[in-house]
Amino acid sequence: MSQENWAKDTADGIHVGFEHMPTPIKEHLLKSLQNRINIKNVYHVTEILYCPRKAYLARMHPNDIKMHVSSSWHIYRGSTFDALWSSLFDVNQKTYKVEREGKTLTGTLDFVWLDEEKYEKVLYDLKMPKNVYYRKKEGAGKIYSEQVQCYLAMAHENEELLDVHRCRVMFLADDLVIAEVPMNDKILDYVFDRIFELSDALETKDSSKLEGPTMAWECKVPYCMAPAWYREECAKCPKYPL
Ligand code: SF4
Repeated sequence: MSQENWAKDTADGIHVGFEHMPTPIKEHLLKSLQNRINIKNVYHVTEILYCPRKAYLARMHPNDIKMHVSSSWHIYRGSTFDALWSSLFDVNQKTYKVEREGKTLTGTLDFVWLDEEKYEKVLYDLKMPKNVYYRKKEGAGKIYSEQVQCYLAMAHENEELLDVHRCRVMFLADDLVIAEVPMNDKILDYVFDRIFELSDALETKDSSKLEGPTMAWECKVPYCMAPAWYREECAKCPKYPL
């Protein structure tokens, strides 16, 4: 930030915005997110459920994506609390793998606990969004529901958690929302279809047939930090949402 802009932003002595964060913290946040290594033919639940074009970009041109510090903070906060709170439960942070036709899906559940009223086991996924305004109205929403459904389906495919038939997403921000999500063991068929499409694109180095995201907000900054040259390609893709 130039001295001129800094002076303008802080004329009243109040500094608002992630760009004002001290650089060592900013660098720590950004560095802490560089741990995930993408392995050929191994796909994470989270990358598969969001925009396939974004997943392609992250694998083919990782250096072209400049993560926004606000996104880094939200991911960092979520994973820190995942690690701290999940360990309070007997079943926590279990990673499952499912393989089909040479492609592997991997994902890690947060924890299993009870519906304390019915005394039934439930698989929980913890989310820490900016706020819970829409979660109170709409529940978990499509992608968060699919994510927790995947973890339970993957556990079942591995012959584990066979006594668990319910999922919940717990959202914590300015309030707490717990959304019920029905179990869906068929979700893996949908996910593997997406994996096969993505892996075809990666093998041919051609993303033109990949669809855009199911939710239009996914294209917005800071949710997607695709560079301008790639966004031009996205605008020609099937089902570009904007
Ligand atoms: S701009 Fe939209 S379509 Fe393109 S990669 Fe980002 S989320 Fe996907």
